[in-house]
Amino acid sequence: MSTDQNKFQAIISHCKEYGFVFQSSEIYDGLSAVYDYGQYGAELKKNIKDYWWKSMTQLHENIVGIDAAIFMHPTTWKASGHVDNFSDPMIDNRDSNKRYRVDHLIEGHAETLPEAAGNALLAQMDELLKENDFAGLKSLIEENKIKCSVSGTVNWTEVRQFNLMFSTQLGSVTEEASEIFLRPETAQGIFVNFLNVQKTGRMKVPFGIAQIGKAFRNEIVARQFIFRMREFEQMEMQFFVRPGTQQEWYEKWKEERMQWHLSLGTDPAKYHFKDHIKLAHYADAAVDIEYEFPFGFKEVEGIHSRTDFDLKQHQEYSKKKIQYFDTEINQNYVPYVIETSIGLDRMFLLTICNAYEEQDLSTPEKQDSRVVLKLPAKLAPVKLAVFPLTKKDGLPEIARELMDGCKPYFHCFYEEKDAIGRRYRRQDAIGTPFCVTIDHQTKEDGTVTIRHRDSMEQERVPLSEVRNIVLNKIM
Ligand code: ATP
Repeated sequence: MSTDQNKFQAIISHCKEYGFVFQSSEIYDGLSAVYDYGQYGAELKKNIKDYWWKSMTQLHENIVGIDAAIFMHPTTWKASGHVDNFSDPMIDNRDSNKRYRVDHLIEGHAETLPEAAGNALLAQMDELLKENDFAGLKSLIEENKIKCSVSGTVNWTEVRQFNLMFSTQLGSVTEEASEIFLRPETAQGIFVNFLNVQKTGRMKVPFGIAQIGKAFRNEIVARQFIFRMREFEQMEMQFFVRPGTQQEWYEKWKEERMQWHLSLGTDPAKYHFKDHIKLAHYADAAVDIEYEFPFGFKEVEGIHSRTDFDLKQHQEYSKKKIQYFDTEINQNYVPYVIETSIGLDRMFLLTICNAYEEQDLSTPEKQDSRVVLKLPAKLAPVKLAVFPLTKKDGLPEIARELMDGCKPYFHCFYEEKDAIGRRYRRQDAIGTPFCVTIDHQTKEDGTVTIRHRDSMEQERVPLSEVRNIVLNKIM
């Protein structure tokens, strides 16, 4: 069985072996921190998206969804502060030329120290980051003799800011082309459409706008598989509220988002909140929801009270009035915003890490083990696998009929090959919650064996009930 350290490596290998995640352009040796989702990964990812989208839009009458373009007018990013502020402090090692994010370098060192010393170092780092004290950060690295993992030396450059936005050219003729950015967050597509949606949807504050889409960041230290990618997807929701009520809504969304995570059956001990010490330029409160990955507690989602910063900035830069007339109090104002922002790929990684289990099933007579993904049934790529026991005696025909009856409702998988036990194990590895076997008894009394993934229990049920059994679990 794996220890915690190599469990993560086992998960990465599993994701590849079973068609969940591949390195992008692997045949050309891959592209760093860019990944492709395979046949089961794409299904799982889509199910996570749908679960989020439904809980945000369908279940909230005052939240609507949009789909804004990735390319936006370049002034958007000037107004949002990303051109000037969206950067991380970096440091280079002169001997290896390896570049580090300063916080990652110090955090890595803190992990090697006894707990009290590590915490003291992190507290010092947080203080310096908060003050943007780059000289202080460099001194901290030197005083602690933090070495480069490649060269092993402490020969560091100054600490510098590095902008994380990717840019490209819009227009075919070089002289006329203008520089535009690939969006580093989806939120701005929501802010610039605030009035469009509010007016056309006749939305009344408080209301929200949700969006799922790609975002791009030129992460310097991209590591930990799909945890930190250069191209990723975000699921964001901006909730517009009356000024002065933001604290109350912030608390409400904090609670509601945590409940969303727990609704997937995850052990609450695997989650905690972590308040931001250094607030972003736009925020008056911010908290992360962290999950205990095999490599420690890390952020999956941020909840930010963004004040009226973004709408005001867009008002100023576009010179268009972005205000809301509140008929209840007869006042015009720029609404305040509470944002919930979750990384889809991180949620995917969380879901897989939480579901992955290596089980020793050995008995005194026989050695045995299995790898099972205990995915929530709602999220599983395949909901039902249908197996005729043999390829003859009319069993495949019955199995096909069951497939045809279930396919329009949920994703099914059909297989005739190999022993039933082997077929079960392959479905366990991709997290299929139910397998049904059609055997000779089915022809006599119309019952089938349904096998439950987690308990491995098998029971006889009427063939005609299979569809509803599955539907009850996935709705
Ligand atoms: P981090 O501190 O890990 O860089 P962040 O605080 O910059 O993250 P936000 O700007 O708050 O992240 O983005 C919201 C969410 O988007 C994050 O909680 C995370 O789930 C996701 N996210 C951000 N950057 C990446 C990335 N490079 N790869 C994958 N997901 C990301």
